[in-house]
Amino acid sequence: MLTNDELAKWDRESFFHPSTHLGQFARGEAAQRIVTGGEGVFITDRDGNRLLDGFAGLYCVNVGYGRPEIAQAIADQAKELAYYHAYAGHGSEANITLAKMVMDRAPDHMARVYFGLGGSDANETNIKLVWYYNNILGRPEKKKIISRWRGYHGSGLMTGSLTGLELFHKKFDLPLAQVIHTDAPYYYHRPDLAMSEADFVAHCVARLEDLIATEGADTIAAFIGEPVLGTGGIVPPPEGYWPAIQKVLDRHEILLIADEVVTGFGRLGSMFGSDHYGMKPDLITSAKGLTSAYAPLSASIVGQRMWDVLMQGTDEYGVLGHGWTYSAHPIGAAAGIANLKLIDDLGLVQNAAEVGAHLLAGMREAVGGHAHVGEVRGEGMLCAVELVADRDRRRFFEASETMGAKVVAAMLKRGVIARAMPQGDIIGLAPPLCLSREEADQIVTVTRDAIVEVLGPGS
Ligand code: PLP
Repeated sequence: MLTNDELAKWDRESFFHPSTHLGQFARGEAAQRIVTGGEGVFITDRDGNRLLDGFAGLYCVNVGYGRPEIAQAIADQAKELAYYHAYAGHGSEANITLAKMVMDRAPDHMARVYFGLGGSDANETNIKLVWYYNNILGRPEKKKIISRWRGYHGSGLMTGSLTGLELFHKKFDLPLAQVIHTDAPYYYHRPDLAMSEADFVAHCVARLEDLIATEGADTIAAFIGEPVLGTGGIVPPPEGYWPAIQKVLDRHEILLIADEVVTGFGRLGSMFGSDHYGMKPDLITSAKGLTSAYAPLSASIVGQRMWDVLMQGTDEYGVLGHGWTYSAHPIGAAAGIANLKLIDDLGLVQNAAEVGAHLLAGMREAVGGHAHVGEVRGEGMLCAVELVADRDRRRFFEASETMGAKVVAAMLKRGVIARAMPQGDIIGLAPPLCLSREEADQIVTVTRDAIVEVLGPGS
């Protein structure tokens, strides 16, 4: 085995890491962690640390680490048939079975599932399908996509444009012209503190209506949104938001894409966030929880009214020109089957609801009264603590103070991984769905101690 020193050097000299400060990393100024293993909700690294992963990797290792059932399914598939493509009607037992399992779990009005590799490419597929749909219906002008500020939908050219976070646009010449953004349903950040939740929903709806009126409904094809804003701050929607938005979209014949890359397959304590919030999407994007990240696989789940038009399109114009070499990869599919079985067998959707509620309640109790905690929020196995300079006046810290990052670093010292969300001082938690109550309590204690270390007792 390589020594730590060799690996550390090669890492700094050879590896272009995603979402990383490249200069600091190359110069050895930014942290490096070489992960060696994982079991349950814990990972281990080469320096001998055992850390409770309160973010399940990138909110994706939903069944937890080290599941032999999934490892075995991947090994068996690799031996039997590591690969065959899925073009022109080809399939394997694994990808056909997974398609059936996904459709059995998806909302009733969904018709088919297309498999890709990750969340970004699944959203890319979904936008192409939306454009194709409107071309087949003879509406070539109806192409713009509405996304929300603070939404996260990936970091490709189109998906990075859909993403509503500055970091993902800056110096990349994004967003592309076909993408327009509307307000985030972020009640804690409401423009006027006197607004009730219902007022704020009405405000979001009015802002959307204004945007549609300005651009023209006949130029807008779809609206994309995560049921719960994820990377933008882990923000559950205000009460009544989705039904109110859905009404506007229906009135203007604007399709709805539910980006369920984080929420799909159980994270909210429901199989899909669309069911959880009564959304009626035309397309669902899914990835992370589909295989719990044991192998790369994504799903674009297509609703019936769209599917009918896609079939009409191929009858008129021939084969649908869309696909990747690795679409529906059998190894990813084998991982997906074993993963969905485990989620059922272990009752993890239920556990996400129950232990997630325990985590949220514990967090509110432990830090909700702290003078620098503005809000503790969450849904299912998602939880966030937002820090503020002045709670009564809702004054935020300066970005340069990096308070969120400091608290997350203090948590890491105490053995718990949380994520400093990229925009704001928000401590994000999205543990594996198999988290136990005791492990949830450990996260709460560590969060409280870290906040006290960085910001004082706060009372
Ligand atoms: N959509 C959402 C809601 C996500 O959270 C992510 C990733 O975090 C993506 C899309 C992009 O997925 P990927 O990183 O697999 O491309």
